[in-house]
Amino acid sequence: MKRSIVVTLNFDDFHPQSGPDGDFGGDPQRGTLRMILDLLEEFPALRVTLFAVPSWTDRPYRMPTKWYHLKRALGFRPVVKGWDGEPFRLDKHREWCDAVRNRSAAGRLELAVHGLHHHNPNLVIHGQEFLGLEKEETRRRISQAEKIFEEVRLPFVKGFRAPGWGYGAETLRALADAGYDFVGLFGSPYQLSKPGLIEGMVVIPQNYSIKDSPDTALAVALRDGVVHAKGHTAYRYGREVIENGLSPEHFENLRRALRALGEQYEVRYLFLSEYAREARAQLSQQA
Ligand SMILES: [Zn+2]
Repeated sequence: MKRSIVVTLNFDDFHPQSGPDGDFGGDPQRGTLRMILDLLEEFPALRVTLFAVPSWTDRPYRMPTKWYHLKRALGFRPVVKGWDGEPFRLDKHREWCDAVRNRSAAGRLELAVHGLHHHNPNLVIHGQEFLGLEKEETRRRISQAEKIFEEVRLPFVKGFRAPGWGYGAETLRALADAGYDFVGLFGSPYQLSKPGLIEGMVVIPQNYSIKDSPDTALAVALRDGVVHAKGHTAYRYGREVIENGLSPEHFENLRRALRALGEQYEVRYLFLSEYAREARAQLSQQA
């Protein structure tokens, strides 16, 4: 009999932008969102958690990534304007919201919260919106993000990942106050392979990136009994390359990894919210 494992799959930065600068899942017919829908077709039990941004304001980056990192290493802190007029606020993309709602109503997609704007005026790449923010302002942004989801009638779960992995103790306290259930905190794979609790919220570590080989996915499954696969919706934004973005190449890689896992294991696919519920029950038994 095959051993049973859990597989979750999640992507950051989901919002209705799809154009020459980047594709974050804005078009159900093509690109990133199409690839995600194709995966759902090929793997009928698969569930995908999308960390969505209800009013994305980061603008595409025009400087080659290595210059950006060099400037940051030298302590240069640019002030960067975001998009004016909140062009990607969900209520300006009602049709897109309808398409996403239909898929999530079918029980295949769930939305979690990835900030309000994703933007930090002092950081260019992957704006760490919450880095250095006070608890009250954090609370305000989280509640504003939820209001936008509610206003466009897009269901979401109380799960959070900080844009650009930028958060602090104030962020966690604000989320706990707002009744958040789980947080994805660790950007680097393999830092932590077991779930834990922080401020009463379940911490779900990432342990597989969609750019890693199928063999890596198998090794992670063997080690942890669970594969939390993670990627970004966009592969490029302006001149920025997002290393584990859902490019056609990473899409093929991910398909191969999911197939390989299915061949070797009895796979139970869960949403991150479902995984968090099970992890919380297990952690409270151990306590
Ligand atoms: Zn992000």
